Amino acid sequence: MIKQNVARILSELPDGVQLVAAVKARRPEEILEVVESGVKILGENYVQEAEGIYEVIGNKAKWHFIGHLQKNKVKKAVKLFDMIETVDSLELAREIDKRCAQIGKVMPVLVEINSGREEQKSGVFPEKTEQLVRDISGLNNLRVTGLMTMGPRFGNPEDSRPYFVETKKIFERIKKLNLPNIQMRYLSMGMTNSYKIALDEGANMVRIGSKIFGERDYGATVKAPSR
Ligand SMILES: *Cc1c(COP(=O)(O)O)cnc(C)c1O
Repeated sequence: MIKQNVARILSELPDGVQLVAAVKARRPEEILEVVESGVKILGENYVQEAEGIYEVIGNKAKWHFIGHLQKNKVKKAVKLFDMIETVDSLELAREIDKRCAQIGKVMPVLVEINSGREEQKSGVFPEKTEQLVRDISGLNNLRVTGLMTMGPRFGNPEDSRPYFVETKKIFERIKKLNLPNIQMRYLSMGMTNSYKIALDEGANMVRIGSKIFGERDYGATVKAPSR
């Protein structure tokens, strides 16, 4: 099942689009199957969960952090992950910078935009994005390589379109500024129900869970994510 799902998604994605398999609450055997089916990037929401899976998968895939990163988890996160897609404050960026400096690493990050301006959600508001990117550009041990957004959840994926359009506009605007230390390469948007719309609107990185693994079952091991 997983093999066919991955094959179909990969064959349908346009050239130059990267697939991130969202692995939260999945079993290591399932995740291994995904990697063996050709997925090169795994997206994980929880540092602790990643530690367990890492023992099984190790460096067979790249690891992207896609959850809400708490400051007290940064030290572990910078060791495990190859990219952090969810930087949304200068405070968090500074902590990543500090912990990366300690281990001699430069971390590629995406700035997460709260494109729906939803109070309870993480992400920087659209109008604050450019300033945050400018502030981060002064830090030596992380490198902004693009933007990420979730957008509000809708039953009808078409309703997501305006949020993806706005995020793409911000992406292009910041790209044109040619800021030092900033490489606007990746635009991470779209999940199982919305990734086709996101691709229409310029995403070149999509994060897909359910369409690969089937519906999530938050049984025994992992608590449901708060978003
Ligand atoms: C869970 C998750 C996804 C994937 O969601 P699906 O609807 O299962 O495809 C993508 N991005 C983030 C940040 C997630 O937490």
